[in-house]
Amino acid sequence: MSEGTDAVRNRPSTPLSAVAAPGAGAVQGGLAERLAELRKNYEALLGEKVDAVARALAGVRDRGLLDELKRAHQLAHRLHGTAGSYGFGPIGSAAGRLELAIVDQLRDPTSDRRWSAISTALAELELEVRPFRRAPAPAELVVPTPRRLAVTGPELPRVASTLLLVTADQALRLQAAQAATQALTTVVTAADAADALLQTRTQPIDAALLDVDPAQPMATIELARRLRRLPGRLSLPLAFLSQEGSLQARVAATHAGASLFLTKPVSDQELTSAVRQLCNREARERVRVLLVDDDPHFLEVLRTVLQAEQIEVHTLSDARRVVEVLDHISPDLLLVDLMMPGISGCDICRVVRTSPAWQMLPVVVITADVSPEQRIAAFEAGADDYLPKPVVTQELLARLRLRLEHARLVRERSSRDPLTGVLSRRAFVEAFAARLADAQRRADSLALGLIDLDYFKRINDQHGHMAGDRVLAAVGRALDSRLRDADVRGRWGGEEFIVALPSVDLPTAGAIIGRLREELASSTFIDDRGAAFSGGLSAGVSLFPQDGHNLDELLAVADRRLYAAKHAGRNRVHTREEDAAPEPPDSP
Ligand code: GH3
Ligand code: MG
Ligand code: MG
Repeated sequence: MSEGTDAVRNRPSTPLSAVAAPGAGAVQGGLAERLAELRKNYEALLGEKVDAVARALAGVRDRGLLDELKRAHQLAHRLHGTAGSYGFGPIGSAAGRLELAIVDQLRDPTSDRRWSAISTALAELELEVRPFRRAPAPAELVVPTPRRLAVTGPELPRVASTLLLVTADQALRLQAAQAATQALTTVVTAADAADALLQTRTQPIDAALLDVDPAQPMATIELARRLRRLPGRLSLPLAFLSQEGSLQARVAATHAGASLFLTKPVSDQELTSAVRQLCNREARERVRVLLVDDDPHFLEVLRTVLQAEQIEVHTLSDARRVVEVLDHISPDLLLVDLMMPGISGCDICRVVRTSPAWQMLPVVVITADVSPEQRIAAFEAGADDYLPKPVVTQELLARLRLRLEHARLVRERSSRDPLTGVLSRRAFVEAFAARLADAQRRADSLALGLIDLDYFKRINDQHGHMAGDRVLAAVGRALDSRLRDADVRGRWGGEEFIVALPSVDLPTAGAIIGRLREELASSTFIDDRGAAFSGGLSAGVSLFPQDGHNLDELLAVADRRLYAAKHAGRNRVHTREEDAAPEPPDSP
């Protein structure tokens, strides 16, 4: 076989070129170029990599050094995994055969029966690599350097988000436009699938709401799939709006990536909260992945692919630091190489699974060795999924999407209070810490409001616990729909709620919570016997930085003011201890 043929054989049908494959009509120019550049850099190093294996093997052969055999194994293993992922399939396979031969030898290092297999495999590898050899390496070559812990900062989200609405229904368009104004979102509409795909290709879209055409429901499912396959749209939040709410329809929508399923007719409030939920997810929760592999080239190529999907990528080549780095980065998913020097991917899985904070973290292992034994070992160690090397981009993205979506659902379920829909106490504390850090960084204010329902015990006693629950749920809904998206709302416990309002002063925060108070006071509830009643709330508000510098301090001040509000007759909001605001008298 001629050298020219080898070069050609290694070029086409590269797995990484599959980034451009199914469905994705146009690869993002930047990504394709970046990958081509990485591939070129890697190609220039192929000769050296084979030389390094050969040198290590020579050390074994000439001086009987076991360490050199292990080193040769490690080098061949890396070449096996990475070359294939860069599209040098035959080189990867040849390296894989060499790796196997070396593993055989490692099992019985004193015998030299396997040595001829090693020599043959090395010769074959050299044949594959020869067409790419160039000496000396060009001076301008940029070799990706190993990154210990490259912290790639998250990009700042755009200020307003854009929702794509796909529908032929004129009334729905109007309704959505109103909902979008409420949710501070821009809406662009498309009448059909072709239009939707075009819109998504040509402008930044943060989420999509698809109206299911009852005449051809499958077309909408197919559109959802195609939207998510567009470059950079892996985690595009999707909602379906359907006349038919059967289980089957819901399942189909979920499979197509819908995180929300609404049935028609939909109320204005439902639509607004759906828009809000869809559009803020991306800005609030950019997916973060930690990638652990000892091969800097492999890290670089995966980083490039994932970043093109708007995923925040952190890489770590020294696997022993994994717990420390997990704590530092708090990723949504861990992607780890199974075979690394010093510590195996399985060991990492076990370490992660035994750390209380990381027991639920999705872990995907990547391995060149896809034998059933290895796969079983990985699952037993706690991996959620495995991915064979060489990595095919579409498969990588499909598997990550599934894991991330599942993890998001689990997280969301555990962070929301089921009765009121606002954050649980623990989740509020976490979210508050993030807002406080923001405020500190920007030298901005942050208000904390502690809200307690008035005479709630009496409401329960007079109207029943179920009626009491309905009041709590209504307060949760009001908090959800009446505050800004940047505000954080939580249920502090029992009939107490808590909110954090960034960038406001005390009077403004007091007025915002005062509106909620008015709304509750003017609402009428009906108990199980048909009797009408209303509720009231009292609140105390404190402000960072003037009233305190952490949650405890701010809470203590807000609590004192709440107590003062109760003492002054309830149904009022206090922003100072001695507030004597002319509030309406208490009338329970
Ligand atoms: P005050 O105006 O001084 O706040 O009086 P209050 O009755 O609201 O205060 P208290 O703390 O004495 O009572 C709170 C009541 O809230 C007692 C408890 O039964 C009720 N509660 C707590 N959690 C829930 C819940 O999840 N559902 C219902 N229905 N009631 C709850
Ligand atoms: Mg209370
Ligand atoms: Mg109370």
